[in-house]
Amino acid sequence: MVGVSSWGRLDCHEHELVALADRARVAAQVAGSQGLAQGNARSYGDVCLNPGGRLWRATSLDRFIDFDPASGRLRCEAGVLLRDIQRMSLAHGWLLPVTPGTQMITVGGAIANDVHGKNHHVLGSFGDHVLGLRLARTDGRVIECGPGLQPEWFAATVGGMGLTGVIVEAELQLRRVAGPWLVTDTVPFRNLDEFFALADGSEAGWEQTVSWVDCLSGIGRGLFFRANPAAIPDLATHPGGPAARVPFVPPVSLVNGLSLRAFNETYFRLNRLKAGHAVAHFEKYTYPLDNLHDWNRMYGPRGFYQYQSVLPREAGRTGVQAMLEAIKASGQGSFLAVLKTFGDRASRGMMSFPRPGVTLALDFPNRGAATARLFDRLDAIVREAGGRIYAAKDARMPRELFESGYPRLAEFLQYRDPGISSAMSRRLIGS
Ligand SMILES: Cc1cc2nc3c(=O)[nH]c(=O)nc-3n(C[C@H](O)[C@H](O)[C@H](O)COP(=O)(O)OP(=O)(O)OC[C@H]3O[C@@H](n4cnc5c(N)ncnc54)[C@H](O)[C@@H]3O)c2cc1C
Repeated sequence: MVGVSSWGRLDCHEHELVALADRARVAAQVAGSQGLAQGNARSYGDVCLNPGGRLWRATSLDRFIDFDPASGRLRCEAGVLLRDIQRMSLAHGWLLPVTPGTQMITVGGAIANDVHGKNHHVLGSFGDHVLGLRLARTDGRVIECGPGLQPEWFAATVGGMGLTGVIVEAELQLRRVAGPWLVTDTVPFRNLDEFFALADGSEAGWEQTVSWVDCLSGIGRGLFFRANPAAIPDLATHPGGPAARVPFVPPVSLVNGLSLRAFNETYFRLNRLKAGHAVAHFEKYTYPLDNLHDWNRMYGPRGFYQYQSVLPREAGRTGVQAMLEAIKASGQGSFLAVLKTFGDRASRGMMSFPRPGVTLALDFPNRGAATARLFDRLDAIVREAGGRIYAAKDARMPRELFESGYPRLAEFLQYRDPGISSAMSRRLIGS
């Protein structure tokens, strides 16, 4: 048994690790067995953990199977990292249409959480670009599915938190790009009304939109970032700048009220000065944290939570304001406070997180009971607004909020693999 933590480092639990390395053998390895597939463990909470049980580690399923540079169709194993896909495909003029704020995740993890990025309002979520996948079940069955082939299995597996089987391989449709460059624009805003006006005004003309919000200000001031792909042939194609690392786990969290207030003030002022247009390499712009390895250690030995919710658009303005006020009143805050509107496109997955509305994601150091009390207040706001919490980030949402937030849960459970369970499924589904 080996101790395994997820990205939030809240706990370290013993697991039996079984490496999946040969795609031809996965069905036999999984058949008659019990466990949970794990990708690169970049989920913050307990969706990728199976304490006391088996983890099928998929990161060695890392081969490209077939790539057609004319159509941009890629077939690959489920443990391939999004970074490796993009570094290979960019040379042929293709990139993944949708990626989250890190590219250090696997294809299997991206499908199982149906991850989203800054361009949700244009391109939807990861599952919208999956053409098909192969799933190995613990009863020995192998299921091929896609949007047009056994679509009910596909809809259960996209966003299915790994609970429908082990994804062995997938076929993805990549997107034609002129190169790695983005034209970017940074616009400071003073309050949430300005944020929503900017979001509404930017969705038609800007493919990527996301905001940083100063959650200690209480008023919702922040910075609106928007970007579009651009053809800029004369620039070198490397993102540049060496990666840094947080070298050890400090004895206490480096993120506290003082450091946060100073950070937020400086970040806001610096970026306000730099506001306006610029050109950026997509890797540097889209995945800024990938350049600081092990940044999750910064939160010290007790780890940290991410709280990400989405509220329907009608209730979004009031709900986000109420959350920011609750955070300010609690004296706890977050460096990383990300606000984004989702588009109206319905997700393919029964359990996918994205839905039309506004999403707020916040990191909080784990301060035990004080943090739990703050989350209770935030839950009440999400519940009242008819919103939901993102499983990929969660380690503690109450079961009734999960049930009300995901109305297709009963339908989804028909496709559940009874041999697969996670800490999250036991907490939120009861098995
Ligand atoms: C810095 C950072 C930024 C992020 N930004 C975003 C963001 O912008 N948008 C967003 O949506 N998410 C974001 N995330 C969350 C992250 O994208 C998801 O948690 C993602 O699912 C992690 O993938 P993974 O390969 O690490 O999988 P894991 O975390 O290991 O597993 C995630 C889930 O996938 C399942 N799974 C993994 N492999 C397989 C397989 N082969 N077959 C079946 N199930 C499998 C697991 O059982 C688990 O349920 C971010 C995370 C970090 C650390």
